[in-house]
Amino acid sequence: VTKKSLPTPTTILADVLNNDVPTTSTGVGVGNNNSVTLKRAIDDDDVPALLDHTPSYSGNAINGNLPANDRDNAESEPIFRVRSRTAASSTPNYESLDYEVCENMLFQEEQRKSITERFSLRKDIIRWIIFIQIGIITALIACTIDIIIEELSELKYLFLMNSVESNVPKSDITGGDLVVPFLYWILLSVLPVAFGAAMVTYIEPITAGSGIPQVKSYLNGVKIPRIVRIKTLAVKAIGVITSVVGGLAGGKEGPMIHAGAVVAAGISQGKSTTFVKDFRVFKAFRDDHEKRDFVLGGGAAGVSAAFGAPIGGMLFSLEEAASFWNQNLIWRTLVASIISVFTLNIVLSTYHGLNDFTFTGLFNLGKFDQPLKFDYFELPIFMLLGVTGGLLGAAWNSLNTKINGFRKRYIPWKFGKVCEAVVVAMLGVTLACMMIYFINDCRPLGNDPTIHPVQLFCEDNEYNAVAALWFQTPEATVRSLFHDPPGSHKILTLAMFALVYYVLSCATFGLNVSLGVFIPTALVGAAWGRLLAMVTFYLFPETEFLHPGKYALIGAAANLGGVLRMTISLSVILMETTGVETSFFFPLIIALISAKWVGDYFNEGIYDTQIEVNHVPMLPWEPLPQYKGLRAREILSSPVVCIKLRDSAHYIYNVLKKCDHNGFPVVDDVKGVRRSEGRVCGIVLRSQLIVILLKSLYVENSHFWLPNTSIQTFRDVYPRYPSIKSVRKLDDKINYTVDLAMFMNPSPVRVNAHDSVPRIFQIFRALGLRHMLVINNENRIAGIITRRDFIYK
Ligand code: ATP
Repeated sequence: VTKKSLPTPTTILADVLNNDVPTTSTGVGVGNNNSVTLKRAIDDDDVPALLDHTPSYSGNAINGNLPANDRDNAESEPIFRVRSRTAASSTPNYESLDYEVCENMLFQEEQRKSITERFSLRKDIIRWIIFIQIGIITALIACTIDIIIEELSELKYLFLMNSVESNVPKSDITGGDLVVPFLYWILLSVLPVAFGAAMVTYIEPITAGSGIPQVKSYLNGVKIPRIVRIKTLAVKAIGVITSVVGGLAGGKEGPMIHAGAVVAAGISQGKSTTFVKDFRVFKAFRDDHEKRDFVLGGGAAGVSAAFGAPIGGMLFSLEEAASFWNQNLIWRTLVASIISVFTLNIVLSTYHGLNDFTFTGLFNLGKFDQPLKFDYFELPIFMLLGVTGGLLGAAWNSLNTKINGFRKRYIPWKFGKVCEAVVVAMLGVTLACMMIYFINDCRPLGNDPTIHPVQLFCEDNEYNAVAALWFQTPEATVRSLFHDPPGSHKILTLAMFALVYYVLSCATFGLNVSLGVFIPTALVGAAWGRLLAMVTFYLFPETEFLHPGKYALIGAAANLGGVLRMTISLSVILMETTGVETSFFFPLIIALISAKWVGDYFNEGIYDTQIEVNHVPMLPWEPLPQYKGLRAREILSSPVVCIKLRDSAHYIYNVLKKCDHNGFPVVDDVKGVRRSEGRVCGIVLRSQLIVILLKSLYVENSHFWLPNTSIQTFRDVYPRYPSIKSVRKLDDKINYTVDLAMFMNPSPVRVNAHDSVPRIFQIFRALGLRHMLVINNENRIAGIITRRDFIYK
């Protein structure tokens, strides 16, 4: 955090727009004039252009003493341009969401009109109905994805097994020709992966990855473009099906949280901007604040449907995604999750021809037949497994970040990204085939836990245990590792499998395909957890407590904790998806917490790492240590571009055209007092100003619009507010006036320039603010703080 910041082009623009003509600026936040040169406005309403660099004259220019010829220039065609934020900054230009409710006069009028008990009750009931709908629709999407993946994977692996059986004769246990099945396998992997990667890359790149970092950023208050559109949902669904069926090292669970979020955002708004269709329902929920709550519910419903774990789903949303919550929201989110799992149960039970709703596939990591028991002397062992998970997870995160950095740098072209996904898919198949070919791991049939055992290079009455691990979806393999009876694999098989999958999943996460990281991480952990149990049993054959499934489960928990750094929700999800007793919660949480603490020592969880490397300005839970001892004046931006309570349309238009801030303090309109010296009355958003100009809500023609204008006028254009480019030049309305009294937010959060930064960070974070005004003792503007000031200063 720098204690002093130099004026940026925008801050100097602010001086000029406000006609403050400072030689130095207000607030400690702005230091001396540097080489930035600008032309001064000739009169109050004249917005000058601004130069980024090339000092030609300064100081005097600021004071208005322009050389005669330059003064002419200043009034004519601007020769200097305002440097936009985007161009000025090397970081992507993410805007914020408005989680603060703008309680302007229009809003209050609506509240007054509807302040009957019946109305509040109705709104509440509608809210519940929306949450229930979100649960149902999310579950239906999850079922569709699930069924398609299961059916296609079954077809694929049956075909491959048949091909193996026919090309490697049963009698031929020493050789046979694996080339043909290998080529088929490559083809059946490459085709879906290439299709999915092409869709993600060419149609909707935001669908790449699990979607959890994006949803998390959205819920934190960062506007991620196109994240909750229907097109995004369609590409995500197809993307995840193709990737899992293609055999990439990933799962559908992460994308399901994103799918749930899109469903929630779509349903709650009662309209689709993609299909230009307004169903004229749920209009009262058309703002960022309301939408955020629904998106949280959608995310929870998505996870619940993906795992068949309602409580885990809700906790996952709270622990990993939500930045704000309250009691009512938790309650509604839980209901959406339960409804989602219930719907899933009905559909899958019906699909599988069951008479009652008892589809065991809901425990999609397989139910343990016997209750899992543990002895107290095992607790340190679980802790050690946790430490191992933390170390492996931290190494995985850092390796994955390096690989993704490499990708960003050296594979920038779209076609290259698709090819890369294809290459990784081929690499996976090749490694699997090599393992199958070189490792001789035959197990007796009958003891066989896999549905379709392959004999491949084994004697009659035997099946190939390596092929069994690879010839199914990663989720089914986790299931096998948890539940296969002791002695189902060789030590070498599991060691190689864990290693190959560790590397493969690391290379896969970050490809331009829709895939989650949960299942491959659990798979790697389950493999090395089971492996450790086997090695210990091999060394000490008398030990009885070494149930391989139990250690696979703890290994999965430890590895998940090391990569994702979640504790509460992961332990509950693992319990719900495997049906273990609550008594086993303790070992799980020990492993998870040890993994998290050890991992946190080295780096952040994979989702936070992704958010950081993509420069998403997400606010952490706690103020950073650097903030300690700082005052608001040391991080604020000043001078501030302000607007008067009654200001000219021309001035507002020029402000919007020439500067790209999204919030402007509104100051009182006292003749002869500069904008920067006015007293703060409120704050107005760029989106509101654009609507005002577009709809000509001027004082001069108020008799036309006043009777028909309400808060709905603004909600109707939400969420895709037009840009200032869509406002025509105001030639005929140049002298019109805008009165902001009824549109501005009259109660923005204000702090004093002396207030401590950790304190104001907490207020900013807790209220989900977008702008915070800093005032002096006389309620005059001293500066402005946005999330960027907390992150980039
Ligand atoms: P957001 O991008 O978060 O939606 P915004 O566009 O209003 O909001 P930022 O992009 O976060 O603001 O602001 C970039 C920098 O400009 C920050 O340092 C902020 O303090 C400053 N800033 C924001 N609004 C104003 C303003 N009206 N006048 C002067 N500086 C401003």
